[in-house]
Formats: sequence, structure tokens, C-alpha cells
Amino acid sequence: MTLRLARRMSGVRPSAIRDLLRFGADPSVISFGGGYPDASLFPVDELADVYARLLVPERSAALQYTTSNGLPVLRAQVAERLTRDGASVTADDVLIIQGGQQGLDLAAKLVVDPGDVVVTEDPTFLGALIAFAPTEPTYAAVRTDEHGMDTDDLQRVLEANPGAKLLYTVPDFQNPTGATLSFERRRRLLELANEHDLLVVEDTPYRSLRFEGSHRPTLLSLDTEGRVLHLGSFSKILAPGLRLGWAVGSPEVVERLGLLKLAADTQNSTLNMAATSAYLETYDIDAHVARMRPVYRHKRDLMLATMDETFPDVVTRTRPEGGLFVWLGFPEGFDATDFLGRVLLPEASVAYVPGATFFPVTQQPNHARVSYSGVPDDRLVDGITRMGRLLHREL
Ligand code: PMP
Repeated sequence: MTLRLARRMSGVRPSAIRDLLRFGADPSVISFGGGYPDASLFPVDELADVYARLLVPERSAALQYTTSNGLPVLRAQVAERLTRDGASVTADDVLIIQGGQQGLDLAAKLVVDPGDVVVTEDPTFLGALIAFAPTEPTYAAVRTDEHGMDTDDLQRVLEANPGAKLLYTVPDFQNPTGATLSFERRRRLLELANEHDLLVVEDTPYRSLRFEGSHRPTLLSLDTEGRVLHLGSFSKILAPGLRLGWAVGSPEVVERLGLLKLAADTQNSTLNMAATSAYLETYDIDAHVARMRPVYRHKRDLMLATMDETFPDVVTRTRPEGGLFVWLGFPEGFDATDFLGRVLLPEASVAYVPGATFFPVTQQPNHARVSYSGVPDDRLVDGITRMGRLLHREL
């Protein structure tokens, strides 16, 4: 047959992420590519316990359909966690979704028509660009530095794009740069969003993984106009295989997102929602996250120390206070996608994500994202050292 594709498919293309996940599966390659959490930290015994308790004949409700917005008990638990984090949230404000990723898909469906302007950090999370693509946005990208989105540049961008509808941000330990938005900029971002009447999508999968520095309030907690759609996820604090996240926003947003969610997939897995709820009830997730933080801190320190020893000084790197990512900057003229082809060869056998695809408007070739999670210490040192050797030869 002739496959006559819908127009929206024009922006839907295979992604660099898919290729990289393939490299990551080859055991001879040391991959800093995926944003996988460290699998040795998954609470396997505890999850086995809660699933076993659910899968008995008298508890079979966990195998049944449930409400499309998510199990009420889990929504209440999420609301309680967000309230402890400074926002005022009830179970009714929470929509359970298939990880934060589904929130990005639903948010774009909610407000973006073809050609509408979506404002993002420059660079931004590649998965968001992938999720937004079928709605055919145009992008306006805002400069970032070690304190996140530069709000002076945001003002300039919004003045140049008066019709902008949606502002997407990862304020905590951003993917890919690792940067965290300062308190002053959080306030200013919301002021500008109010002025320009934007829906702000606050994406926070790494928020609990702060291992250094001081706490910042969520945009959700600072919002006075119901314009923040806050997305969170159990992927990095429990396990990504559960595919569980949450979307929280004003009643008019959450209700419509719920309709879109119903259309997309009816509901999340009842079993995974019930198991996660039972986990939260029985075990102490905060204690679990507290055990993860020093592990990631150690890995960040080890990666940066190894780079200090083995990388040429001209290669810049960020120093995240949490999360999973370091962002590298190479000199002008260096192409990190070409270099990946060489560093993947048996001499080094190292993978990372070239930075170009994280830029929504003008792709800068001289950057790379490296992740320190999910790689054992000895391989981390080995991989960074081998990459450094090759960089010295080329720079
Ligand atoms: N947002 C950001 C910034 C991410 O880095 C990720 C995953 N790496 C996601 C959303 C989606 O994660 P999940 O769907 O597993 O919650």
C-alpha cells in the first residue's frame, strides 16, 4: 500500500536517543549516554514484597481497571509529598501519568497548534522535543548558564514572540546541562509568564536528587495564577520500569489532561499504581532517596576529578548539584557527533550523547552530555580516561 502519512509525522523522526540506547546495550562499550538510574539502587526486595501481597485472590482489585486519573490513594500520597515540598495540593489536583514523558505529550496536545511558539531552554531535554514534535510547534530558545534559564533573555524572546503559548523548563538539575534555576530567576520567570499569559510546564524528574547546595522552591509553589503544570516522576527515585509519574495543575488543566490521557491509554497500570502506593505506605521512600544521593554525589565527584586529570583544559564541564548529567563544551569548530564516531571505536569504546540534538533552533555541534549514573566506578574512570587520551590527541 501507499502509506499516506499525516502531516504531523513530518517532525517525527528516529532520534539519537534510540541509537544511543543501542550502544549502551553493547557490554564492550562504556556508555555515559543513557540517563538510566543506577540499577543497583532499585528497591527490588521491597517491590517484590508489595507485588506479592497484592497478587492474592482477595486483593484482585489491583488487576482490575480503575479510574483514568489514577488510583485515588496514590494521588493522595503524591499530593501529600508535593504539599511537604511547599505547594498546596490535594488528590483532585493530581493526574497519574506514564512517567513525566506522557505529561509532555499531553501538555503539547492541550495547547499547541501547528506553528505555535513553544519557549524552551537552549539546550533543552531532547525527549521533550520528541514529545512536542507531533503538534508541530516552532521553537524560541532561551540562553542558559549555570543558574538555568537567563530571564533577561527570556524577556527578550517573549517580546519577540508575542503569541508564545507554552514555556517548558527543567528547573532542577536540567537535562542536559545539570543546571539549576536560581530563586530570583524562578520568581522572574513567573512574572514574565504572567505578563505574557503562558502555560509553564515545570518538569522535575531529578528534583529529589539534590546532593549539594540549597533547596529551591518549585515553580508550582510560587505560582499564584494556576499557570504552572508541574510534572514529576517515580522513575529516578523508585524505578523507571514502573512508568509512573504525576501531573499537577489548575482544575481546568488537570481535567482536560485527564480527557487526553483517557483517549491515549485509558489509565496507568492498576497493578503498578497499587504496588507503588503500597510501597509508599509500607516503606520509607525518603530514606531510600537519602541513600541514593551520596552514591550519585560520589559518581559526580569521581567523573569530574577524572576529567580534571585526563581532559584537556579547553574542554569545559558543568558541576551539577544533583541529578545525573554533566555537560561538556568543546572549542569552536569541534564536532562532538564526529568525535563520537571515533571514540566509539575499539581503542576507546566510549559513548555519550552529542549535544547538537538538544538545541531546538540552532544546533551547536561542540557539546556533549555525559551521565555518571549507571556506570560502575572502575569503568567510569576507565572510560573518561580513554576519552581524555583521544581528546588530547585531537585538541
Ligand atoms: N523529563 C526529563 C527532563 C527527563 O530527563 C526524563 C527522562 N530521562 C523525563 C522527563 C521522562 O522520564 P519518565 O517518563 O521516565 O518519568
